[in-house]
Amino acid sequence: MKCDGCTACCEHLDIPWMDSPSGSLCKECTGSACGVWDTAPLDCKTYNCVYVQQDRAPIELRPDLCGVIFEKLSHNLMFGLMFKRQIPDLIIEQIKNFNHQGYSVVIDVMHDKKLFAFPKEGKTENMVLTMFRAHQNKLEVVNGSC
Ligand code: SF4
Ligand code: SF4
Repeated sequence: MKCDGCTACCEHLDIPWMDSPSGSLCKECTGSACGVWDTAPLDCKTYNCVYVQQDRAPIELRPDLCGVIFEKLSHNLMFGLMFKRQIPDLIIEQIKNFNHQGYSVVIDVMHDKKLFAFPKEGKTENMVLTMFRAHQNKLEVVNGSC
């Protein structure tokens, strides 16, 4: 799939290399695309949310429309950043599909600053949140934030 006008990651993700915190649109974004794509940083060019990694997906699952940006963190853990206040039924279905595909899912509800875990079969919410935090800690170590 293509981004086709979605700029959700350029607004809702923390993008330190562009000095663009989560919740503020990158200054290089035109509102419907990247204004400097040809010379954009590699980290921007290589970022692909789950929606664009799919060959076929309903347009309603495009992050700017559904309000959730999904990222695969590992072979069994999926993360979703939810930036709209209401979670559409479609997202509940998507989470169930990810569970069936072998992923546990963590949803970060931006407005409430809360994490919710949706474990796959055989896992508990606590196990999933522990796995997620371990993943975050590992990233912080790799990025030298500790
Ligand atoms: S959130 Fe996904 S679909 Fe939207 S602009 Fe970013 S990569 Fe493209
Ligand atoms: S440089 Fe372009 S792709 Fe990267 S965050 Fe800014 S608008 Fe998005």
